[in-house]
Amino acid sequence: MTNENDQESKVDIDKNDICEECLNNHESVFQNLILYGYKICKFCKTSKTIFPI
Ligand SMILES: [Zn+2]
Repeated sequence: MTNENDQESKVDIDKNDICEECLNNHESVFQNLILYGYKICKFCKTSKTIFPI
């Protein structure tokens, strides 16, 4: 029972860690998703300094 719950939450976190630009898995993707609402890693964010906000 507890194992199933752990797997579900783990899959959800892994999905949020995938960058939409380079499709790489990085922990910074989830941080940027919370901060900016974009699923983007810190590397792609740095290369895209011009944000139309
Ligand atoms: Zn990226």
